[in-house]
Amino acid sequence: MIIRSASFVISNTEVNKCPHPDMPEYAFIGRSNVGKSSLINMLTNHKKLAKTSGKPGKTQLINHFLINEAWYLVDLPGYGYAKTSKSNRKKWSAFIDEYLLTRKNLMNTFILLDSRLAPQKIDLDFMMWCAENQIPFSMIFTKTDKLSKVATQKNIAAYKREMLKYWEEMPTYFITSSVEGTGRDQVLKYIDEVNPL
Ligand code: GDP
Repeated sequence: MIIRSASFVISNTEVNKCPHPDMPEYAFIGRSNVGKSSLINMLTNHKKLAKTSGKPGKTQLINHFLINEAWYLVDLPGYGYAKTSKSNRKKWSAFIDEYLLTRKNLMNTFILLDSRLAPQKIDLDFMMWCAENQIPFSMIFTKTDKLSKVATQKNIAAYKREMLKYWEEMPTYFITSSVEGTGRDQVLKYIDEVNPL
């Protein structure tokens, strides 16, 4: 897919204030600082479409971007920094739940995972919650330029082992680097294939 245009539409925390669901949309979510804004900018070829920063936990809004006048790219708030001592309490906001459960035009959710880390409980919990609620998702491993290919594959293998305890097969996944542009074509092609645009 060639990105011809990308523009900001609206930010909010209320699902009923999101744009009218008349075009397919694709959401991106992950723990704060996973590299989500950088990935969105890399995918859309825009340096500043999504705001990047080294500081975790800054965006707590649902951000809609219109791509090619044909589909929405949705930047969801980062999860995982809720101040709670109850380790089994869900750590993503109620409006993320509501958005994922009710948004009719949501074709796929990309769950971003830092390729340098071992499988994290919150990410596994989130993927499990998506599966239980029949929310289609795929995995995006970020920042792979920071590791050797061998180390990246080792971490992905650890994820596969973990996922195969609960899933019959590993969900679709992508290996990306926003610095090097890795995975851009694959993710955009997948978006095209999930719902030909
Ligand atoms: P967000 O909080 O998930 O939106 O994360 P950001 O996109 O703001 O990135 C968090 C930090 O990781 C920033 O310092 C980025 O420069 C850095 N970063 C993000 N993606 C990559 C990547 O692919 N490679 C490298 N080396 N650094 C990255």
